Amino acid sequence: MSNFVSMLAPQMEDIDNSYVFIADSANLLIKMNNKKVTFPEIGDFGPDITKLDRTEYLGTLGGIHCFCLSLEDDLIIPDGIEFIGLRKILKLFDSGFCSVAYRAVHIANWTRKSRYCGACGNKTEKSSFERARVCKSCGNIIYPRISPAIIISVIKNGKILLAHNRRFPGNFFGLIAGFIEPGETFEDAAKREVLEEVGLEIKNIRYVQSQPWPFPDSLMIGLTAEYAGGEIRPDGEEIDKAGWYGADELPNIPDNVSIAGRLIERFAQENK
Ligand SMILES: [Zn+2]
Repeated sequence: MSNFVSMLAPQMEDIDNSYVFIADSANLLIKMNNKKVTFPEIGDFGPDITKLDRTEYLGTLGGIHCFCLSLEDDLIIPDGIEFIGLRKILKLFDSGFCSVAYRAVHIANWTRKSRYCGACGNKTEKSSFERARVCKSCGNIIYPRISPAIIISVIKNGKILLAHNRRFPGNFFGLIAGFIEPGETFEDAAKREVLEEVGLEIKNIRYVQSQPWPFPDSLMIGLTAEYAGGEIRPDGEEIDKAGWYGADELPNIPDNVSIAGRLIERFAQENK
């Protein structure tokens, strides 16, 4: 997220050209501008939308201010502006825009789900000084929820462990992944998930990279590890098939907009 310089809304005289990321679940509004796809600007809707309780300032991208909000009935969408799935955005825009899009969808969903206090049921309002919603009735403070999950490439003798999840379409293989349980380290979660889903033990777990994944609020922590023991036994619940694959015999795998694809690509490059 190095594109962002600040999370606090600046004093702005002319904000018409600021980007506004308007989200509905896992979709965002985009604008066609002379056949070029871009994001809407504040001027398309009017500056009043920056004053809405659910509008959040995101930071700047290339010096341009960015805001987000969730789509509600009070917003009239001008002609030429339409919804597109976040996954498509990952393919259409560069990494700077994608980072803002991730943040926008995550935060817009959070503001929509945090309008009422989970402790006392009263309405919340935006904090004046931090990214939070505050319940004035009971003092509850609600921060955006981020759910960390590990995703791991396990290597054995130059081959990678790939698994078919029952929810995946067709003959599509990915990496073992799962949410971190309360009280677990990254390593604990990785060992548990690999053991639970395919019955294997792993060692030498290393961090590789991470990726925000707002479907709806995950942070994927990409790890790698070596095989340490056991025979592949898919759990039958989530995983129905799994196996070891060399770099030159990879099945149908995720593309590299996802961290799964990048971890597999990294393995393939290291094992040409
Ligand atoms: Zn409350």
